[in-house]
Amino acid sequence: MPPSPTTVVGGGIAGTACASVLAEAGLPVRVLDRGRRPGGRMASRTLHDRTVDLGASYLTAEEGSPFAAVVGDWVARGLARPWTDTFAVAGPDGLRSTTTGPIRYAAPGGLRSLVADLATGLDVESGRTVAAVGAGPRVDDEDVPAAVLAMPDPQARRLLDADTAGRLLDDRPWEPSLAVVLGWPERRWPADLHGAFVHDDPAVSWVADDGDRRGDGAPVLVAHTTAEFAAAHLADPDAAAGPVAAAVGRALRIDVPPAWTTVHRWTYARPAEARSEPFALADGIGVCGDGWSAPSRVQAAWTSGTALGRALLTA
Ligand SMILES: Cc1cc2nc3c(=O)[nH]c(=O)nc-3n(C[C@H](O)[C@H](O)[C@H](O)COP(=O)(O)OP(=O)(O)OC[C@H]3O[C@@H](n4cnc5c(N)ncnc54)[C@H](O)[C@@H]3O)c2cc1C
Repeated sequence: MPPSPTTVVGGGIAGTACASVLAEAGLPVRVLDRGRRPGGRMASRTLHDRTVDLGASYLTAEEGSPFAAVVGDWVARGLARPWTDTFAVAGPDGLRSTTTGPIRYAAPGGLRSLVADLATGLDVESGRTVAAVGAGPRVDDEDVPAAVLAMPDPQARRLLDADTAGRLLDDRPWEPSLAVVLGWPERRWPADLHGAFVHDDPAVSWVADDGDRRGDGAPVLVAHTTAEFAAAHLADPDAAAGPVAAAVGRALRIDVPPAWTTVHRWTYARPAEARSEPFALADGIGVCGDGWSAPSRVQAAWTSGTALGRALLTA
């Protein structure tokens, strides 16, 4: 039997970036992910015959950073595109103003397609739920040269014994969110909306124009809820569709209810506060993801996974 490869548990962008570093250096490595397809919170799903982004809305890349080079390559190959630097600001009673920030990048094929691109050539096993990672290191009773957990802290804690978890992770809360997809027969909001930050609303904090960001103009919005609203609806997320549709209607002045809705629950959407350290590594077990390399976002997750991969090469 050949020796087991270094094993990355979690095929989001952090785990995939980590595995890419190891594979590029010629190390045997595999990625195990419990999802049907990897991508994690850069999640895209086919709804009503088109791809919709259900997790991250977009990504940003700090100018001159190594991640900016990765994004630049995606843009050059048509996998990502600069979307906008300007969003609307709304309140519970309508649009108020606009706000400008860094360029946000979107993916015509959905953000998951970017993780899939990063995973090209890697040994990835989807649909594989890992139950335990422990001293040895061992992954589900298999000895491995090193193990990486690339996922939210609460998910990593479930796999680790108390001793190992205590050495790698401090205790910090993660917040939930619900993504509610809303579809109409035709567009009923301003063409230059792009997206809207919703202030002072108990249910909705952000609405993205999915047709605009993906470039096909489909009349589909994706609303993300506040953590408090999500926490109250985790047991029955579908019940959130009505109140969220009503809140979006008020904020964007849409007076017709959506023709269809779909709700996706993110129990661990984001850390309340990410760490500034890039990762943790002890006795051949590493943890990485957007709980590290603050502020928590796609760029942080990639940076964290890449840094842990490099550290494993020299460990
Ligand atoms: C609603 C929402 C909106 C967001 N908006 C933005 C945004 O606009 N811009 C931005 O930059 N970021 C945004 N983010 C954050 C961004 O999505 C994350 O920072 C990033 O995708 C995290 O990547 P990751 O690899 O660290 O973790 P994840 O993507 O969560 O990957 C973890 C992986 O581990 C797998 N896994 C977990 N447990 C197991 C197990 N036991 N066995 C096997 N596999 C397991 C999961 O299936 C998952 O694929 C948003 C997130 C959410 C939820």
